[in-house]
Amino acid sequence: MLSQVVELIEKKSDFAITTHIKPDGDGVGSSLGLCWLLRSLGKSAEVVVHGEVPLSYRSLPGANEIRDAKVLDKQYDAVFVIECSDLDRPGIEGLEKQFTVNIDHHATSEHFGTINWIDSTASAVGEMIYNLCKAIGGRITKEIAECVYMALVTDTGSFHFSNTSERTFKVASELIKAGAKPARISEAVYNNYPWSRIELMRQVLATVKRDESGHIAAMRQTLAMKEQAGAVDGDNNGFVNIPLTAREVVAAVYMREVAPGRYRASLRSKGSINVAKVAERFGGGGHRNAAGLSIEGDWDEKEAELMRALREAATEELDHLRETAPIQ
Ligand code: 5GP
Ligand code: MN
Repeated sequence: MLSQVVELIEKKSDFAITTHIKPDGDGVGSSLGLCWLLRSLGKSAEVVVHGEVPLSYRSLPGANEIRDAKVLDKQYDAVFVIECSDLDRPGIEGLEKQFTVNIDHHATSEHFGTINWIDSTASAVGEMIYNLCKAIGGRITKEIAECVYMALVTDTGSFHFSNTSERTFKVASELIKAGAKPARISEAVYNNYPWSRIELMRQVLATVKRDESGHIAAMRQTLAMKEQAGAVDGDNNGFVNIPLTAREVVAAVYMREVAPGRYRASLRSKGSINVAKVAERFGGGGHRNAAGLSIEGDWDEKEAELMRALREAATEELDHLRETAPIQ
C-alpha cells in the first residue's frame, strides 16, 4: 500500500522502474514520472524496458534514457513494476531476485510484489504516481507533469472512458498548472502515426460487419494485411473502437491473425456490458469495457462464437436501452 511505498523511498536510495513489454502511455508515462520524482528526491533511479518504446512516447522527458534490457545486471534497493498483471509481463529475467514493488490500477493484478500497491479506483497508474508525489511531499516538476499527463490522457481515451473521474480532472488540472501542455502531448500521440496505419486501417475497415441484431460488430486483420501495409506495432491502436462509434453498436470484437490459425482478439463494449467476463470464458481477461484474449482454430467459427458471446452479454443492456431510448 501507499504508506509502505513512501517509507521504502524515504529509507532507500537506488531504484529501477520497469513496465510491461510494448508499453502504452500509462506504462511509459508513469515509469518516467516516477523516475523524475525519485530523482527530485535525490535518489538514483533508471527506467528499464525490454524492447522498443513506441514513437508516440519518445518525446517525453527522459524517454531517450530508457534502457532496453532483457536481464537486470545488478541488485537494486527496489524495482518498481508498473502496470503489470504478473512478474513475467516486463519480459525481464531475474526480477524475482529483486525487492519488487507492484504498482497497478487493475484489480486483477496478482500480488506478486514484495510490496503491492493496487488502486483500482485510479484512472491510470499516473494518477497513483501523482498521489505518491503528494504523499511524500514532493514537488510536481514540469517533467513529472508531462509524463503523468501522458499516462492520464492515454489511459482515459482523452478523458472519455468510464474510468475518468472528478479526481482525474483535478490531477490533470494540477499537471497543467505545473507545465504540462495538453495539445502538445495529444499531438504526439494522436497525430503522429506513420502512413502505414492509414493503409492498414483501410484494409481492416473493409472487413467490418455486424451480426443479425446489428448491435454486435466484428473486424479482422490478417498477417497479409499487416505485411502489405508495412505496419508496425501500435499502428492498429484504437481500431477496435471504430465500430463502437456507430450508435447502434454496443460491443465489438477485433481479431488479429498472429500465426496461421492463431489470433489475438480485443473486445470492447459500451455501458454495463461486461466483456471482461466474456474474455475470461475464453482464457483472457481485462476490464468491463475493454478486454482481450488469445484464441486458436477456424477463423469464421471462432469469430461467430465470440460474437454470440458478446450478444449474450449485451442482451440485458439492450433490454434496458430499449426501455429507455429505442435503438434503431
Ligand atoms: P487490448 O484489447 O488492448 O489488447 O486489451 C484490453 C485490456 O484487456 C487490457 O487492459 C489488457 O490488460 C486486457 N487483456 C488483453 N489481453 C489479455 C489476455 O490475454 N489476458 C488477460 N488476463 N487480460 C488481457
Ligand atoms: Mn493503465
